[in-house]
Amino acid sequence: MADLLVLSGISKSFNVGTSIETEVLRGIDLVVRNGEFTALMGPSGSGKSTWLNIIGLLDRATAGCLVIDGQATASLSESEVTKLRGHAIGFVFQYHHLISAFTARENVMMPLLVDQGRPTASMERRADDLLDWVGLSWWRNNRAMNMSGGQQQRVAIARALAMNPPLVLADEPTGNLDTGTASDVFDLMERFNREHRTTFLIVTHSHELAGRCSRLVQLVDGRVSQDSPQAAHAST
Ligand code: ADP
Ligand code: MG
Repeated sequence: MADLLVLSGISKSFNVGTSIETEVLRGIDLVVRNGEFTALMGPSGSGKSTWLNIIGLLDRATAGCLVIDGQATASLSESEVTKLRGHAIGFVFQYHHLISAFTARENVMMPLLVDQGRPTASMERRADDLLDWVGLSWWRNNRAMNMSGGQQQRVAIARALAMNPPLVLADEPTGNLDTGTASDVFDLMERFNREHRTTFLIVTHSHELAGRCSRLVQLVDGRVSQDSPQAAHAST
């Protein structure tokens, strides 16, 4: 398996040079291979979201080196970063971040539209296929605001997969859902990982869901305190 992510000495401080400077990430080294299904756990405030935002190219590290899919990111221009992010990374957040007045189909098409500029029939087909896949065939023309939390998160997962990215970053994707719905949403990510070898990095506070991942990384005080493979996920 090839390396999809290589992090070396990633550090992040906020408010650098001021009296309230805080060092959130303190030299993180991590290699993630293609096809891994990894849980990221850690206490609140330990830097999980900060870390995911840096990997997702939504924020820059203060120090260290991040290589995504063989591409060193430090020297990329803003437009190159935007392009790499759009093609290589899908995002799922705790709050779905859908456009509530748009239909499920329009929301799933959004990354394709951003990439290609105007809607096409093939984009619609791609969105419909993904909505079929997440079990929302009958909801494709419903506005996001009229859907349940679990349905909205399924749409958000379909949207994250629209560009067929090698990497999906999910920041507490089930944190807002009841246990049964959370498990169903997790199933979808697991299934997509198995079928397409898409790499997932999932922040969760649920030990049960983390136990379904092939690897568990724990973050404490901005450092990796534990990193272990897990036998439970026998298929990888
Ligand atoms: P987690 O996701 O593990 O709960 P976060 O990454 O959100 O943790 O936050 C880690 C720490 O970084 C917290 O102390 C938080 O207050 C701080 N932090 C996060 N973002 C910013 C920011 N933009 N400016 C200043 N401090 C921040
Ligand atoms: Mg967080």
